[in-house]
Amino acid sequence: MSLDFDNVSFKYPRGGHGVDAVTLAAQPGELLAVMGRSGSGKSTLLRLAAGLLDGYDGRIAIGGDDMAGVPVWRREVGMVFQQYALFPHLSVVENVAYGLRMRGVPAAQRRVHALEMLERVGLSSHADRGTTMLSGGQQQRVALARALVIAPRVLLLDEPLAALDAGIRHQLRDLIRALQRASGATTLLVTHDQEEALSMADRVAVVDGGRVLQVDTPCNLYERPVSAQVARFVGHSTILPGRIRAKDMVDVGFALLNVDTGIRRIGDDVELLLRPEHIQPDPPVGTANRIDGALGEIRYFGATQRYDFLPNGSSQPLLCEGRLLPTSSIAIDPRHLVTLNATPDTQSIPLPNGEPECLQS
Ligand code: ADP
Ligand code: MG
Repeated sequence: MSLDFDNVSFKYPRGGHGVDAVTLAAQPGELLAVMGRSGSGKSTLLRLAAGLLDGYDGRIAIGGDDMAGVPVWRREVGMVFQQYALFPHLSVVENVAYGLRMRGVPAAQRRVHALEMLERVGLSSHADRGTTMLSGGQQQRVALARALVIAPRVLLLDEPLAALDAGIRHQLRDLIRALQRASGATTLLVTHDQEEALSMADRVAVVDGGRVLQVDTPCNLYERPVSAQVARFVGHSTILPGRIRAKDMVDVGFALLNVDTGIRRIGDDVELLLRPEHIQPDPPVGTANRIDGALGEIRYFGATQRYDFLPNGSSQPLLCEGRLLPTSSIAIDPRHLVTLNATPDTQSIPLPNGEPECLQS
């Protein structure tokens, strides 16, 4: 079942911007992450899909059917929220069976289905216990089982892992992804956590101020963001203001850098996106985009180190990452520098550098 937002706008009666002219389509079976900072409009989108908010402009459709006027319980959506929101007076298995009870499934059959779901989230041994003694991670697994037991057409997850510790969070990422794949439910995963979005989703929609900035695969989003604004949301980066001096040659003040400038003109102001891992420490003389300077702050992470490198003649450090530290120079591979327009349009614009070069696959 596809889930479509077509030019959807919603404003809260009192205050908040809600969402503004959102067009977004989740394909059948797709896990589409909606990523953005707090207050960007993520939950509003989810509530709209669920049917929890009235009075929006535009069209929302599930499986091609317009959802205008269709109540929550008729939409066949499963929902999981950050707060586990289990029914405290019901046992674990009764919680999971709740949606089936609402749909009039006979008691014996409900229990069988609910136990089956509990098995899949690894909690069948807790079936007849209360929910109040469960850990956060266990409660969220119950919530997930409860959402999936009705075989929803659409699964809506609102920051389902945000309240959990890192270890549990990582385990649950894999579990959610596996269950989502098995169920085939088209899924909207709301998260402010970019690692979560990139690692779990088929595609990611980056939202800010109620608007969608870019919808793309995790790889394209990271390698070819359409604007500096998106680049800042996704991964670590250094963004260098500069001006095109010649074809594929950008002046960033402390250096002339070789980079694909696409169809832009000489004299255009641009911003260059540099990812920390695309740095070569102490390159041989003659290497493209070799920059002399000094090593700054170093942060050790075990498998890698993230450090600042201050180019001679610059006050803006470059954020770099790698196991080996440079002594007095680095090089930036031109293939991994991305040219962005200096005044980014916030709507999707054609990729300036031609086909994205996705190095992942
Ligand atoms: P997110 O989930 O990305 O943190 P929300 O979708 O909850 O953001 O909120 C988007 C905007 O709408 C914010 O500016 C927020 O303040 C506002 N907003 C959210 N819920 C309400 C509400 N019930 N009443 C008024 N404004 C709201
Ligand atoms: Mg929210």
